[in-house]
Amino acid sequence: MSQRLFFGVDVGGTFTKTALVSDKNRLLAKSKFSSFGFSDKAFFAKALQANLLSILSQNKFTLRQLKGIGIGLPGPVDFQRGVVLSLTNIRGWDRFHLAAYLKKYFSVPVFIENDANCMCLAESRLGAARGASYALCLTLGTGVGGGLILDKELYRSPFFLGAEVGHIPVTLDGPRCSCGGRGCLERFVGNRSLSAKARGIFKKKISLEQVSLLAAKGDPRALKFWQEAGRTIGLAVSAIVNCFNPEVVVVGGGVAQAGSPLFASIRKTVVQHSMKQLKSRIKVKKAALGNDAGVLGAALLAKEKIEDR
Ligand SMILES: [Zn+2]
Repeated sequence: MSQRLFFGVDVGGTFTKTALVSDKNRLLAKSKFSSFGFSDKAFFAKALQANLLSILSQNKFTLRQLKGIGIGLPGPVDFQRGVVLSLTNIRGWDRFHLAAYLKKYFSVPVFIENDANCMCLAESRLGAARGASYALCLTLGTGVGGGLILDKELYRSPFFLGAEVGHIPVTLDGPRCSCGGRGCLERFVGNRSLSAKARGIFKKKISLEQVSLLAAKGDPRALKFWQEAGRTIGLAVSAIVNCFNPEVVVVGGGVAQAGSPLFASIRKTVVQHSMKQLKSRIKVKKAALGNDAGVLGAALLAKEKIEDR
């Protein structure tokens, strides 16, 4: 029997990444294209269709082998109904019945999910949280996304905003957040906030990669910078640790590239603030799948849903 394939899609603000994943969870091929022009829904559907056909033919697969499509999106998604609830990066997609819309273009089932949830699913099945039944995943980037695996399944709330770790308040009366709250984690450790903070400390425009390089060389200001970021993240993580007792916390995304100074501080803070029965049990790990987590998770989502039927 020929190999069954699943098409994973990760819609980002700048690029849309895609991948073909086998029924044995192997990533067979990857591709990407510009996300420009996606406000035009038909344009998006046609671009996706063209990408799928080219990735299939380039790798000598046929459309008949394709069994399902999973799409990760940077915003809250109603997974059950296949509706995009809101997207800040693409105009005109709020309340968009994306899964139903794509039926015109594809002959296989389409599933959609929040991108952080996709990353979390991939890390739990194939990455740093593999084997754990309970896991928390964080992605640190422009925003701070989160996903929660409870009893091996992605946690989804009735309001579609489950595990929004980025919006856990880490201080009283903190700065206002786009979510409507105040003092959210994202306002402190989102890419923009960290970059602005670094500029203030180093008195010049400096990238977070440069701050990491300085930290690796032992620069005390850079070390302190990552230590403080780690404490703030650790505080928010410990709130979830004490509520849900995940066996493992996986941290990924661009900011996680800061590496050991950041992770040491997250671990220390999580241990400090977790209940004594949990202190020795909780593991904080770096995400293992890197940039592939989004497309892998999206494909796995489709695969698992189809196999469940
Ligand atoms: Zn918020």
